[in-house]
Amino acid sequence: MSLAAERMGRILPSQTIAITQKARALKAEGRDVISLSAGEPDFDTPDFIKKAAIEALQRGETKYTDVAGTPALRKAVAERLNADFGLDYRPEEICVSTGGKQVIYNAMVATLNAGDEVVIPAPAWVSYPDIVQLADGKPVIVPTTPETGFRLTAEQLRRAITPRTRWLVLNSPCNPTGSAYSRDELKALTDVLLEHPQVWILTDDIYAKLTYEGREACTVVQVEPRLRERTLTMNGVSKAYAMTGWRIGFSAAPVSLTKELIKLQGQSTSNACSIAQAAALAAVSGPQDFIGEMVAVYQKRRDLVVDALSAVPGLSCARPEGAFYVFVSVQQLLGRRTAGGHVLESDEDFVKAMLEEVGVAAVHGTAFLLPGYFRVSYATSTELLEEACRRIARFCGGLA
Ligand code: PLP
Repeated sequence: MSLAAERMGRILPSQTIAITQKARALKAEGRDVISLSAGEPDFDTPDFIKKAAIEALQRGETKYTDVAGTPALRKAVAERLNADFGLDYRPEEICVSTGGKQVIYNAMVATLNAGDEVVIPAPAWVSYPDIVQLADGKPVIVPTTPETGFRLTAEQLRRAITPRTRWLVLNSPCNPTGSAYSRDELKALTDVLLEHPQVWILTDDIYAKLTYEGREACTVVQVEPRLRERTLTMNGVSKAYAMTGWRIGFSAAPVSLTKELIKLQGQSTSNACSIAQAAALAAVSGPQDFIGEMVAVYQKRRDLVVDALSAVPGLSCARPEGAFYVFVSVQQLLGRRTAGGHVLESDEDFVKAMLEEVGVAAVHGTAFLLPGYFRVSYATSTELLEEACRRIARFCGGLA
């Protein structure tokens, strides 16, 4: 008899984490590897945030907090959502968790019954379908296309919804494509959602502050306040504040749902780390101008990568509106043979051979539910990005 529960058979280890670890292991062996696989800012957490954590530690804030987070942080999160998106949440509608990932996990486990459907536009962040399956739900994957900028259309949404649909998961800007919905595009979706009262919306806004050319980041409840009563707005400090390791995410949702999230969290992890909460409080309530400075750097790097890779025969990619990823099509190169003798039958073959032969780690599109692509994270230094693009060009140029 297997040790693992039946539900473990439904999920895979996170493929982005697997590739990042493989790249790390190769580096440890002394190989010259550039890792473009991790979804993590290369910037350090700003000093004023670190200082707030040190001060909290010195004040002895080392005890359990309320399960849903400290009152000060819940209030500050509500105020931040108001300042950034004009959203109107009360502190009791906020739940602080151990990363945005736990928010999504809590939401699915707290609400899904066996066979309930969750609509997920693809390509999508690797963890959504696995979390849904762990929670006994059924992911309904809706492939989007480059023609719509990898954005879900109202028609596709309408076709995907059934009486069993419990959630739609939206992620804008999107990991892995960097596509962001405009207000009008989002409104077209919210109009469909108004017709289907059984569907809740989980809007994953973790990259919402990382948008380019001054583009406005918008979110569901802002565009359609009538959906407030069945929307969970998820955000966190990992990406916008360069705080991935601190593990703080949060939800804003009606009290009826928030109560269930707190009940579940109270029987699993309890509160998020007290020191990390103090740091997150400084992040969301302190000066925000450093985000604009990071965004300006990311925008330059985005242009560097898009320009360099678009110039490589056989590769193609769009110029994303946000996040820090470029999603590159390799469809024209499949079937070819590498200089090292590997035949590229799939996007996974492509990324494996690229890592082995030129030492660049990226994640294949299939990991994001859309084969024929790879994802590059440009949250790394300009010098490394330039070198990585040269290597990718050399790898593609060597294909027979
Ligand atoms: N959502 C998306 C789209 C992500 O890319 C990530 C991290 O990679 C997360 C959520 C989770 O972020 P965290 O758990 O670090 O807050």
